[in-house]
Amino acid sequence: MVDLEELPGVGPAIAKKLEEAGYDDLMAIAVASPSELAEAIDIGEGTALKIIQAAREKADVGGFETGDVLLERMKERKHLTTGSKSFDELLGGGFETQAITELFGEFGSGKTQIAHQLCVNVQLDESEGGLEGEAIFIDTENTFRPERIIQMAESVGIDGKDALKKIHVANAFNSNHQMMLVDKAIELAKERAIRLLVVDSLTGHFRAEYVGRGALAERQQKLNKHMHMLLKFARLYNAVICVTNQVAARPDVYFGDPTQPIGGHIVGHTAMFRIYLRKSKGGKRIARLIDSPHLPEGEAVFTVKEEGIRD
Ligand code: ADP
Ligand code: MG
Repeated sequence: MVDLEELPGVGPAIAKKLEEAGYDDLMAIAVASPSELAEAIDIGEGTALKIIQAAREKADVGGFETGDVLLERMKERKHLTTGSKSFDELLGGGFETQAITELFGEFGSGKTQIAHQLCVNVQLDESEGGLEGEAIFIDTENTFRPERIIQMAESVGIDGKDALKKIHVANAFNSNHQMMLVDKAIELAKERAIRLLVVDSLTGHFRAEYVGRGALAERQQKLNKHMHMLLKFARLYNAVICVTNQVAARPDVYFGDPTQPIGGHIVGHTAMFRIYLRKSKGGKRIARLIDSPHLPEGEAVFTVKEEGIRD
């Protein structure tokens, strides 16, 4: 445990308040917003900001890292299998840790099914394409289905109930709550081996709450902040982040004019992998990788079966 009193402006009384309010380590403080912290422990926002900045320096978040440290961190990157060989190949082995992967596509294109499958697969041994870890599922539209997890788990040889015990689900009621849940996720990841964080859907609340041209800038700013928090989570815990983004069936918007900021311009810049999903003939689905920093663009065909995502 760190001594919070080492932070400037924090004496015994404030340290005690911080601990009581759950800000009992540097990371929790470092990722707080000044207004949130000020309210939680009843101090001025200016003081809160100073404490947060000091915690950030000590916790070394969002700062620079030297190239050798970066190289070591990158070496730790792993891949999480989707359950489909061709889908995995498209992604260079599966969903990559320390990055955000965005699934976008119209309603029914398979985003939520893939998210469920990842929650199961993350529990598999590394030799089977898993990460031997647990999952967090931030659900914004009530799409999480325990029964579906049981189905998918049992078809890869995991007891359904055991699988559910390793998936931590929270409903996000609005965009602020959704953002706060990432802070909570960081808390939980200190106790449990969380290696996957799903946000399904990333954009739903933001779209509903920030309507019209005037609200666009604020929406994108908040979404950007949210994405950076998710990326921080990915790096801290060498975890996979999977976010979904429902879009109208207008691939021309994405492939015709790439400068069109339809919902996801900023999302597109922070997410390292963007996958466009669409339905095809005979129940098949197509995943298309877009704008990847180090993988060629391409497509993979997969199916959604009773047992889960397969070739
Ligand atoms: P999105 O999240 O992109 O809106 P979903 O991931 O919810 O879409 O995909 C829903 C589709 O997944 C259904 O239309 C169906 O084709 C398929 N699906 C869902 N459950 C099953 C199942 N148990 N067996 C086979 N296919 C399923
Ligand atoms: Mg869905």
